[in-house]
Amino acid sequence: MNSDKDIPAVDAVIVGAGPAGIGMALALEKLVDIEYVILEAEQVGASFRRWPAQTRLITPSFHSNPFGLADLNAIDEISSPAIFAGAEHLDGKQYADYLAFIAQAHELPLSENCQVHQVSALDEGGFLLATQQGELRTRFLIWATGEYLYPNLTPFPGAKWCVHYAQVSDWKRFTAPDTLSSPYTVIGGYESGVDAAVNLTRLGHHVRLLARKSTWQREGPYDPSLSLSPYSRERLKEAFQRGRLEIVFGVDVVDVTRNEHDGFRIHSADKRYWDTQQPPLLGTGFLDGGGAQQISTLWHWTEEQHIALTDADESTLTPGLFLVGPQVRHDQRIYCFIYKFRQRFGLVAEQIAEHMGLDIRVLQNSATLQNSADAWGPFGNRDCCEGCEC
Ligand SMILES: Cc1cc2nc3c(=O)[nH]c(=O)nc-3n(C[C@H](O)[C@H](O)[C@H](O)COP(=O)(O)OP(=O)(O)OC[C@H]3O[C@@H](n4cnc5c(N)ncnc54)[C@H](O)[C@@H]3O)c2cc1C
Repeated sequence: MNSDKDIPAVDAVIVGAGPAGIGMALALEKLVDIEYVILEAEQVGASFRRWPAQTRLITPSFHSNPFGLADLNAIDEISSPAIFAGAEHLDGKQYADYLAFIAQAHELPLSENCQVHQVSALDEGGFLLATQQGELRTRFLIWATGEYLYPNLTPFPGAKWCVHYAQVSDWKRFTAPDTLSSPYTVIGGYESGVDAAVNLTRLGHHVRLLARKSTWQREGPYDPSLSLSPYSRERLKEAFQRGRLEIVFGVDVVDVTRNEHDGFRIHSADKRYWDTQQPPLLGTGFLDGGGAQQISTLWHWTEEQHIALTDADESTLTPGLFLVGPQVRHDQRIYCFIYKFRQRFGLVAEQIAEHMGLDIRVLQNSATLQNSADAWGPFGNRDCCEGCEC
């Protein structure tokens, strides 16, 4: 290790260049006199570049910006993925290109191919980072490493025989001969399981979807973090109409075993089982905390395995460490969509500015600020929860 004085130092480091990292950088750009960098292990929008080729954003993009409503998938008040891509439901590459365009247009201080391998919280405050491109010290660390690159590959014994949604690059590669008696089997009845089922039926396959419960009941919660989005409900209806989709509810998969000759057996807690020739597909989610697991000892974890945060999204265990992105939760509010978690960027920037004694008046015109956000402003009202009466 170098001696302290040889190690370059900045005020803040953002780790990850997805929508959370790039959006957070745009909020920091509003502060003058802050020196920060974004460190990205691969390229801007790496998670989106790995999406299956057929996957689209489920939240629609629409250029409503001039009337004060930011595009739902925009990471700042003025840009619009709808305008950038000329599409309402962008695919992963289009959205990653939108992020890269924003990073370039704003000349954000970005180092790609710079994985952060290790983070040490220093006794005197601040952090020492060991990265692919050397060591770096920082007073504030903003963790924006998302979830997609951290799938839970072992949700139950025998999951090693399955293929996780996050390991699929193109559904066209699934070319097993189609027979009604041996459909593809998808485990998980929320967005990724439904997306897998929809895309496989579109390609002419029969699919059996095993779900614990329906996430698309009319009387279910309104919050798209808990219920299937309208876009996916529509697509599910289409898949039914194709006559190639069977859904089995009440299935809690506890094991997958390999059959003696060929194929696999999927076992449910209630002793039902299903045999399949093809490896089962997992739409069963990501590691608790996703990429935040990389620095798991720097957070307090709640009993439900969520990350405990202050009102300004700072770690309750490690001062100076902030979390931005889909893992942020406060009480009943789950910030797992871009239009949700972008509402927190201004708060984090404000908190860092206050710690540094910077002039926060520059942020005061920003609609992302706590006090200036009204219910219909570009970034909405952070006090408003999904499904409330407002
Ligand atoms: C199929 C699917 C569809 C979705 N559709 C929508 C939708 O329609 N609307 C919506 O709002 N959300 C949607 N989401 C959720 C959305 O994609 C995520 O909430 C979003 O990607 C999170 O952004 P992020 O910047 O936190 O993480 P990511 O986009 O995952 O970015 C994290 C970045 O961190 C980098 N990184 C990780 N670890 C390190 C490290 N140690 N050092 C350096 N870099 C690191 C990664 O390379 C990556 O580029 C969808 C998700 C999936 C899986």
